[in-house]
Amino acid sequence: MFTDQMEKDSYVQQVWEKLQSKYIQVYPFLTESEFRDLFGYRVIKVLEKLTCRNEACGRCDLDIDCPYYSRMLDRCGIDPYKPVHCRLWHCYDCGPEEIIEDIRDLTGIFSDQLGPEMQAIVIKEELESERLSKEEAEKQFRQLIEEFRNDAKV
Ligand code: SF4
Ligand code: SF4
Repeated sequence: MFTDQMEKDSYVQQVWEKLQSKYIQVYPFLTESEFRDLFGYRVIKVLEKLTCRNEACGRCDLDIDCPYYSRMLDRCGIDPYKPVHCRLWHCYDCGPEEIIEDIRDLTGIFSDQLGPEMQAIVIKEELESERLSKEEAEKQFRQLIEEFRNDAKV
């Protein structure tokens, strides 16, 4: 993906500068279009080619210990604002090893805290104890992140 370390460092620096100037307040919860703008065509093009080759392996389900996820949901509870490190992360079965290594490096560099986790855990517990429907839990997860993003902009 990068011809050498210098090119990679320069790319990381560019992304970092854009993040600081445009997205730092709402980071790491970016929309798809914000994520594409931040990482640029070159990396997005690579990410689009990576794909899970064996969903039956089940590791993605087993390994998820995340306040925004429940087995009762079909997907990430905050899908429209999926955190940057989750959008980047891919396992080694998803593509050529040298590409995954670069992507995993970027994931490490751009990983960050997960925002209002305590409130998310409450929503998750209510969903899993069936005090909230799936639809209501998804709505509350989304609102939680929208409030986080709006508060950060003030
Ligand atoms: S992305 Fe990787 S870890 Fe996840 S289910 Fe697919 S093969 Fe398994
Ligand atoms: S926030 Fe990330 S780890 Fe959690 S459910 Fe969404 S994609 Fe998965």
